[in-house]
This record gives sequence, structure tokens and C-alpha cells, in this order.
Amino acid sequence: MKRTLLHDLTLVTGNETFRGDIIICGDRIEKIIRTNENGLATPAGTEMPLDEVEKVFLEQHPDAEVIRLTGLLAFAGGIDAHVHFREPGMTAKADIGSESKAALLGGVTSFIDMPNVNPPTTTAERLYAKLALASGRSWANFGFHIGATADNAEEIAKIPSEDFGGIKIFMGSSTGNMLLDDDGALSSFFRTTRKEILVHSEDERTIRRNMEAAIEKYGEDIPFRLHAEIRSRQACIKSTVKALELAMSLGTRLHVLHLSTAEEAEMIRAAKRINPKITAETSANYLWFSSEDYDRLGSRIKCNPSVKGAGDRAALRAALKSGVIDTIGSDHAPHLATEKARPYLQAPSGLPSIRQTLSVLLSVAEEEDIPLTRIAEAFSENTARIFGIRERGVLKEGCFADIVTVDPHKEYVVKNDDCGYRCGWTPYEDMKLKGTVEHVFINGEMKVKDGKLTDDIPSGRRLRFEA
Ligand SMILES: [Zn+2]
Repeated sequence: MKRTLLHDLTLVTGNETFRGDIIICGDRIEKIIRTNENGLATPAGTEMPLDEVEKVFLEQHPDAEVIRLTGLLAFAGGIDAHVHFREPGMTAKADIGSESKAALLGGVTSFIDMPNVNPPTTTAERLYAKLALASGRSWANFGFHIGATADNAEEIAKIPSEDFGGIKIFMGSSTGNMLLDDDGALSSFFRTTRKEILVHSEDERTIRRNMEAAIEKYGEDIPFRLHAEIRSRQACIKSTVKALELAMSLGTRLHVLHLSTAEEAEMIRAAKRINPKITAETSANYLWFSSEDYDRLGSRIKCNPSVKGAGDRAALRAALKSGVIDTIGSDHAPHLATEKARPYLQAPSGLPSIRQTLSVLLSVAEEEDIPLTRIAEAFSENTARIFGIRERGVLKEGCFADIVTVDPHKEYVVKNDDCGYRCGWTPYEDMKLKGTVEHVFINGEMKVKDGKLTDDIPSGRRLRFEA
């Protein structure tokens, strides 16, 4: 089997940051060699200078490859449990091939796609059709969530649990046709489901009321900055209170998606003490943008839930730092630029961002003094644990070699053309971020080198979910 020595990196895991080497053998991490405080490597307990490691390694494995990576950070490849790759049914915007390639270039080596495609992933047949669609075409390892409807609980219960990530519930959101605001069906899912329940948490009635008021005041021409008042903080809070109360009383495994308010972060912190199976996600978008950006970026940052105030952004950054926020999902949701150019009422919600996630996290980590170990947890380790993705999401001997290396000091300006999204734009255009993805290894194979693809063959594998 082919061996590769990744020489002289700084490894970042959820527990610690340390200098060392990684030996990849086949599709796995065979060995991690630590460099001690004297700058000496200690394979098998004996100290030796770093150059010796390379020499000894090549003596033992003459046809192996050595890649020197001094100064770079290594994280486990990202696991993004919240993407909208638009296939089947909306492939003018994006598809599994195009967006998983962008994901890989952003250091995301596994993804779990959401069910609001066309037709929506709400039956076993559609789940397996989607798995077949991704097979041989996905650049990253892939899996899918199933969408809850008012009457598919029994059907979902029959699907082997290792075949899907979790059950997505749109609690009163108008995205797609999976609105589940019937309290009976909702609490029945919370009571009976053993899998992770992921909620999009916004109260539809509150939003409808706000929308009517806005139309009354502005007619058809609603300014985009009103998005945060229409899809208001009260809508989020009201729905999240309901989800948390149910999950606390029923012991549900609940994952609250894309937190956008300070209040929800505080509520989650308290709820975790009562039910430790409650977890939370935010996306890089809510850590980066605030309502002050609407006048400049308008439709480009229109997403659901809405981007809220600067105080919310600060609270979410603090929640990432403290661990109240467990995971980062991109909520990568491409739309055509022509669709986004429409007036407020017609412009679809959602924005493409998966290639920027890691850079935003590293930039925010520097600004807020967030330890890199927290970034490793939120980018991959916690996601792997929550969804039961075994032997991935962590830099550990024996695990799959899904690894991303990053130059933490290199700054760059985001350009639409460099993103690789089919839709051709991102709200991060012209923004300066810090931390570039240099290499990406997936299942032991180097697919990205110096930020560029090494070949044109997608090699993502199907994920299994053992939780
Ligand atoms: Zn989403």
C-alpha cells in the first residue's frame, strides 16, 4: 500500500495542538509522530532530529512520498452536516458534482445534504436514489438527511439508521413543502425518533404577521434590511423555546440548526444542562455578517433565518468559543445571480459559502482569540460524534486519512471566479480572509495540492451513520 509522510506540521485536534508528522498508509492514518519541546521527533520513544525522521522513513519505505509542510496547520477534513447541493431537481443552481468539488477545495471532506430538493427526500426510495446519484460523482464523502412530513414517520422508522444522517424538521419555515407546524406530528417525532433530529427553527405565524405589516408599509418594494425584522428574532426565539421544551421533556437528540440570535445561544446553554443530547449549529455567515451589511449586500445575504444584529454576531462568536455551539454547518445554498437580483419578495433566501467556511472560522478565531482546538471540534470532530460517523473527523491513528492543511497566516481576497460554485457568486466577494487551504487528503489520497485539484476524478465515498 502507498505510504506518504506529511512532515513537520502543527496538528490540531479537539484536545490539543502539537507539532508532528503524519504517516498515511492506504486510506488510513497509520501513525502520528510527535515532535517534543526540544524540536526532536520521538517515533517509538527514541528522540531524533526532524531530518532523521524523513531519512528513517525513506529507508523503511523506499517508494514512499515525503511532503514537507513546515509552518502549516493540519485539521481533520471538515464534516459539513448542512448543505443544499440542489440535486435532484434544481441543477441549474448547483449539483452534487459541482458543489462537492468546491467543498473539497475548501477543506470539507464529508457532507450531509438536506432534503429540500425536488422531489424532496422524504421517502426511502428517494433517499436511495440520491445515494445512487452521488455515487462516483461526489468529490467529498457523502450522506443525506431525510425530511419529516406530517405523515412519513412510519416510513422513516423502517429505513436502516446507518443509511441516513438525521431527520430534518422545518418547524414553521416555508422552504420547500416540508412545513411541520402541526404540534401532534412534531411531538410524535420528538418522542419516538432515535436518530438525530435537526430543526430549522422559525415561527411561521410570527413571520407572516411581520411580512403583512412590511407589505402594508412598503408595498412590493421592501428594503432588504427589513429581512431581519420580518424573519425576526422573536420568530426564532419562539420556535426554539418550543423545540427545546419538547427535547428537554422527552429526552430527544436535538440539533438546532443555524443559530442566529444571542437569546437562542443562552437558551441552548441552559437546556444542555437538562438534556445533554441537545446540540447546536451556526454557520460562518452568522459569525461574519450582521444587519449592518444589508444596505451594502442586500439580497446576497438574504438567508433564513436572517442575519441579525452585531450584538447577536458577538454572542454567537462567544458561544463558539465557549462550546455552546457544537458544530459549524455552511448552509451552503446556491441560487442563480439572476434570481437573487429580483426585488425582496421574489428573491430566494440562501447563499453559497462552503469554500469560505474554514477561512472565516480561522479569521474569527484570530479576532476573538478562540483556541484552534475549538475550531477542530466545530469543523469536524463534534459533527462526526453527533451523527455517528466513525473513524472520520479526527486526526487519530487508524482513522481515515481525511486531512486538510492550512496556511494560517496567508491572507487572500475572495473572488467569485475562484469559488467554483456553479452559480458563480458568493457574498464574500472582495472580502479579505485569513487562512488558505493548501492540501486536502481524502481517504488517503491527495486531491488538493497548493490549493488546486491534482486530478479530475471524484473519489468521495458513502458515509455510514452509526448513531
Ligand atoms: Zn439550510
